[in-house]
Amino acid sequence: MDIERENHKLEKRLCREVGRAIVDYNMIEEGDRVMVCVSGGKDSYGLLDILLKLQQRAPVNFELIAVNLDQKQPGFPEHVLPEYLGRLGVKFHIENQDTYSIVKRVIPEGKTLCSLCSRLRRGILYRVAGELGATKIALGHHRDDILQTLLLNMFFGAKLKGMPPKLVSDDGKNVVIRPLAYVPEKDLARWAEVRRFPIIPCTLCGSQENLQRKQVGNLLREWDAKFPGRVENMFSALQNAVPSHLMDRSLFPFETLRATGEASDDGDKAFDEEPCAPPAAPSGADGNPSWTRPVIPITAGD
Ligand code: SF4
Repeated sequence: MDIERENHKLEKRLCREVGRAIVDYNMIEEGDRVMVCVSGGKDSYGLLDILLKLQQRAPVNFELIAVNLDQKQPGFPEHVLPEYLGRLGVKFHIENQDTYSIVKRVIPEGKTLCSLCSRLRRGILYRVAGELGATKIALGHHRDDILQTLLLNMFFGAKLKGMPPKLVSDDGKNVVIRPLAYVPEKDLARWAEVRRFPIIPCTLCGSQENLQRKQVGNLLREWDAKFPGRVENMFSALQNAVPSHLMDRSLFPFETLRATGEASDDGDKAFDEEPCAPPAAPSGADGNPSWTRPVIPITAGD
């Protein structure tokens, strides 16, 4: 298959998956003003790019405003985003806040900067969202970010907790959405090459990469290569929780449980040692058995 056809298929797939996530979680509604956080990385460029495409064909009217927070990291090429966003013709706002100096001043040498840095960034972006009258804040986290977060929370936080596709922010004032929730990172990496986004490196702050997240990311990539369908199944599992078969007493009334006398497939199969069937071989247009729900109306359609 020639490159152009491949790229066209990728574009359609990205639009379809972003549109599907938007509809599934009712992320964008009529009249929304969506603040799209653009960092200069491949994911946020991809998010803005696909949202602009969907805006043309969506059944609802919504506004997009790209926002970049220039944290004054040394060497940050401050002309790149304004030039790119200007060329796109999208409304944008660059917020200049020197969080880099604050973080460097407050955090002792050798300690990780990220937690204070992201706290400051979050607060600033919430404020900017209020000032711009944004009704939603869109972030560029994708499927692999969500799965990595799930595993990290299990390994280090002892919680069955991923990254929500839509949630009210911790200050209670904003609705945060993640329209790339269904999109695999490899598709965004490829799309960034196709579109030649002017990527700004994310290492300018000099902070070390989050080693644990990197390791979990490598693990997922390894599984994806060795066991096709496993990562997709893990992701689907997030949408198919069975509280009666977990152990959270706040989600299921274990204490008051009584026999009903009625047979149920959801009941305990007491001596069944096989917890589930082996995963089915990948199938469907994208080789993805889990993503078979109907195409949503916000997309261009196939
Ligand atoms: S990597 Fe750098 S810019 Fe990113 S959160 Fe950490 S300190 Fe901040």
